[in-house]
Amino acid sequence: MEENFMNVWEKALEILKDEISQIAYNTYIEVMVPRLVDKNTVCFLSPSSYYIDICKKRYLELIRNTLKYLTSVDYQIIFEAKPTIPENGDSDLEDLEIIRGQYGDIESENSDEKLNPILDKEKIREKAGLNKRYTFDNFIIGNNNRFARATAYSVYENLGLTNPLYIYGGVGLGKTHLMQAIGNAVIDEDPSKKVFYCTGELFVNELIKVMLNPKNADLNDSFKKKFRNADLLLIDDVQIIAGKDKCQEEFFHTFNALCESGKQIVLTSEKPPKEINGLEDRLKTRFSMGVSVDIQTPDYETRLAILKKKAEEERYLIDDEILIKVATKVKSNVRELEGVFNKLMAYTKFTNNQLTDPVVDNIIESILVKNSNVLSSTLVMQVVAKFFDLRVSDLTSDKRSTSIAYPRQIAMYLCREVADMSFSAIGKDFGGRDHSTVLHAYSKIKDEYDNNPDTKDLIDDIKKTLERES
Ligand code: ADP
Ligand code: MG
Repeated sequence: MEENFMNVWEKALEILKDEISQIAYNTYIEVMVPRLVDKNTVCFLSPSSYYIDICKKRYLELIRNTLKYLTSVDYQIIFEAKPTIPENGDSDLEDLEIIRGQYGDIESENSDEKLNPILDKEKIREKAGLNKRYTFDNFIIGNNNRFARATAYSVYENLGLTNPLYIYGGVGLGKTHLMQAIGNAVIDEDPSKKVFYCTGELFVNELIKVMLNPKNADLNDSFKKKFRNADLLLIDDVQIIAGKDKCQEEFFHTFNALCESGKQIVLTSEKPPKEINGLEDRLKTRFSMGVSVDIQTPDYETRLAILKKKAEEERYLIDDEILIKVATKVKSNVRELEGVFNKLMAYTKFTNNQLTDPVVDNIIESILVKNSNVLSSTLVMQVVAKFFDLRVSDLTSDKRSTSIAYPRQIAMYLCREVADMSFSAIGKDFGGRDHSTVLHAYSKIKDEYDNNPDTKDLIDDIKKTLERES
């Protein structure tokens, strides 16, 4: 046993003692003996698997955070049941062998490489497509996401019971974070569980690869295996499969296969299933079968809490006043909040100067302006052109065929509605058209948007793409 770590554990015990009831401390915590498996992994030897279950459920995060607080190392924590705890730790190697022997025979998916779930947890996470940064622990709970977070946690605790968990909401609000937190928690608890995270886009791309090689049975087989062998399948931004027949078909079968074998599926999307344009009815039904939760824009308190948590994680000393200012001004999503935070931190690090009011204002503005810049007529035109499979030059041209005139009117409408441009400025950017032409286009599309659900869906889709391109 490393002397140093024993000292750390003693300090940790001091802290833990104050954090939990004395009975719990004496029963579960004090009796454990820690062993360093490697520089990032601690194994706690505990009297029984019953104790281990309790420790995992109630104290794992607390122990991990305490160790992290003391050492700055984010230890992987594992538990091992020992019928009798040795008085003083003897052979580390022997214990390591026990652990290796126990897990060494598990074979990783899609490769011959053998991974030891304890020592190679990071590799397992990587193979699963997960980012270890996304945990329940650092997901701040607010009114905007309380229900989503609680549901996600209960899905992690009861895998396979509720299918699917469907998380939806706007860009940068924490859908990917929450979904990956489930995957990370599952791997932390049981690294032999097969978790597979993939974006809807990757699913589509993989499927196209298979379709381009119809004779390659191996490829086909490995594709199916990868998705259908998962204990927990996480598909992020699933809305992208809408309108793509072959993908929907394959997804439908994957979905059914996993459900039938009691595996867990988690999906995220920007909209609830029934609002996804072009999604097959049978998928809409399947997606609505389990539980759907949404994440809203964070309120002021949540925004401030997120900033404070980030500062704490990064050990970045920053005035509360500054964080309050950021939380007040940056409202629309968490990604923007993080953008401002990272810039503030970079400023302090690289210049070593104090953050003054004007500097903070500039940084906030640079992020907010960058995001509103996005909504210039150029970007609107690019997105609309791509949507209708046209060239940007078609939109500014004199061509009057409906297939061009209609997208042009939509683009003009969006320049007004989303980019807040004046009618004459829009006319100028669209090949020198006059103010009344733009006004006519705007009124026509606005009327359709208000009265025709198909147009509304279409335009909402384009708006989302615009947001994403920002
Ligand atoms: P989405 O998938 O909804 O577009 P992400 O999950 O990518 O959003 O979140 C954007 C960023 O904001 C990520 O870095 C994520 O960690 C962070 N984030 C979002 N919500 C929270 C939260 N409640 N607590 C802490 N960080 C959050
Ligand atoms: Mg996402």
